[in-house]
Amino acid sequence: MMDWGSLKAACAACRNCGLCEERHNVVFGTGDESAEVMFIGEGPGEQEDLQGEPFVGPAGHLLDEMLELIGVQRSEVYIANIVKCRPPHNRDPLNTEQDACIPYLYDQIALIRPKIIVCLGRIAAMRLINPEYRISRQHGQWVEKDGVRMTAIYHPSALLRDESKRPETFEDLKSLQQEIHQCCAKTKAVLPFAVPAAAPDAGPAKPLA
Ligand code: SF4
Repeated sequence: MMDWGSLKAACAACRNCGLCEERHNVVFGTGDESAEVMFIGEGPGEQEDLQGEPFVGPAGHLLDEMLELIGVQRSEVYIANIVKCRPPHNRDPLNTEQDACIPYLYDQIALIRPKIIVCLGRIAAMRLINPEYRISRQHGQWVEKDGVRMTAIYHPSALLRDESKRPETFEDLKSLQQEIHQCCAKTKAVLPFAVPAAAPDAGPAKPLA
């Protein structure tokens, strides 16, 4: 396993798959390198590719609001993707591209040693939890792998496209908050303000609205 410096340098220079051809930046990952909680998406979008950071576009803003809802700061967690370079037109990363890139993520996980991994969306869940993962049926469920508590929630981009998924995600975030309380020593998941106790129809009024 590489150390952080070697890993970042190798990733920055990587040409192990075709996604290197059109990238502006390799989007390595960001956050606390000893975080207890990791969020893992599928790959960079347009803004991420331009800025070199994960989840900085509209989906990233929504992710920030989701974290805020459970009282977690972005700086407390680590955020990365399955592939580090942007797939053209935001298509799903191919299996061959995921295969080429996943060793970087495995090294990141090994260095960080998180207690909780939250997959953002179907692609990350299929890669990290179960190849047969069905996000519409299994989101919010918890499994344990190698001592790490793992779950998946809808990708923020999916929540931007389809607001009907937001109440379910609100419930998943409450479940995540409970897990953080139980498993994490330094990450404080506290409700910063009163949220609807149960709003199956409308979901939370602001952060996920
Ligand atoms: S996506 Fe990953 S494997 Fe492909 S070129 Fe970028 S860093 Fe290398």
